[in-house]
Amino acid sequence: MATVELEGVRKNFGNLEVVHGVDLAIGEGEFTVLVGPSGCGKSTLLRMIAGLEEVTSGAVMIGGEVVNHLPPKDRDIAMVFQNYALYPHKTVAANMEFGLKLRRLPDAEIRRRVAAAADILGLADLLGRYPRQLSGGQRQRVAMGRAIVRDPQVFLFDEPLSNLDAKLRVQMRTEIKALQKRLATTSVYVTHDQVEAMTMADRIVVMHNGHIEQVGAPLDLYEKPANMFVAGFIGSPAMNFIPGTVARDGAGPTLRAAGGLRIRLNHDCACEAGREVVCGIRPEHLSITDGDEPDAFPAELRYIEPTGSQTFVFADIPGGPQVCLITAQPRALTPGSAIRLRAAREWIHLFDRETGAVLA
Ligand code: ADP
Ligand code: MG
Repeated sequence: MATVELEGVRKNFGNLEVVHGVDLAIGEGEFTVLVGPSGCGKSTLLRMIAGLEEVTSGAVMIGGEVVNHLPPKDRDIAMVFQNYALYPHKTVAANMEFGLKLRRLPDAEIRRRVAAAADILGLADLLGRYPRQLSGGQRQRVAMGRAIVRDPQVFLFDEPLSNLDAKLRVQMRTEIKALQKRLATTSVYVTHDQVEAMTMADRIVVMHNGHIEQVGAPLDLYEKPANMFVAGFIGSPAMNFIPGTVARDGAGPTLRAAGGLRIRLNHDCACEAGREVVCGIRPEHLSITDGDEPDAFPAELRYIEPTGSQTFVFADIPGGPQVCLITAQPRALTPGSAIRLRAAREWIHLFDRETGAVLA
């Protein structure tokens, strides 16, 4: 167990800077997930922690010590990759032992560690098999086992579940999270999948274009996104964004948007009248209403996507963008019909139109 700290970490490839000064402190035993779209710099950041990529400027610290100039083998870390990187001609046991043999651990200690890891991972009966004789999930477990036997200070994962089918991915993410809690080893886990991030992390780091947008516990990011990028990235289907202007009348603050659209805002909304904003409403906070409530607004139902437990409804609002909402009762919905929508006021987010930053 160790802390991992990054201070002003930058990375250039040639003249191109791809990581722009990242500061981050990861606590002992913490499970931190770096999430963001493809190309935002997650792997580069992880590889700089691992020592597989040189740091252009700034400091990487593990256990309080600057490790910038230490090679990966001296950083006391173990990394698990997407492609497992198992030796095809070695058995499961030999794959797991290999790193320990290189480090000249006593045979008895190697056997003890491999047996313990195999036991934890349910690999005890597979130790004599070769990688080609294993399923994708079993191979991923062997890759995990190889990391565990090292008993490192830090685990680093780079999209370790991306090669697995959807069902196995869900199962393995539960397993990895439980395993991490049991071993209490500081872990940094990279994924582009926000659901994986939400379900696994103690703390999520949302990255975008080589910098950090926000760091927080999963539900904090969902409930209090700092800006439109995080708001749109966390949550599925994505948050709806409706540009408009804040107005105030006897009934309280209101968003006025194109096409005469009015959306009532929460009474404690602090925005001054006339402020140009973007209103963010998650699909789960919009509903179809039969009544004639004053805060409902008209829309035209375009199409529906049933998933079974939930149905995603897409509707056009007057003069505005298409919005998505989630309903549990899909049967009465006909594309082309006129409906009325209602937003859960207390869940509406307002963002600055220029900067995208959330407004208090
Ligand atoms: P992610 O893991 O978030 O998808 P990466 O860290 O792999 O993103 O890449 C971040 C950016 O750095 C991308 O624009 C990518 O093209 C660039 N990049 C990564 N590795 C190299 C390299 N070895 N040489 C040049 N550019 C690279
Ligand atoms: Mg990557």
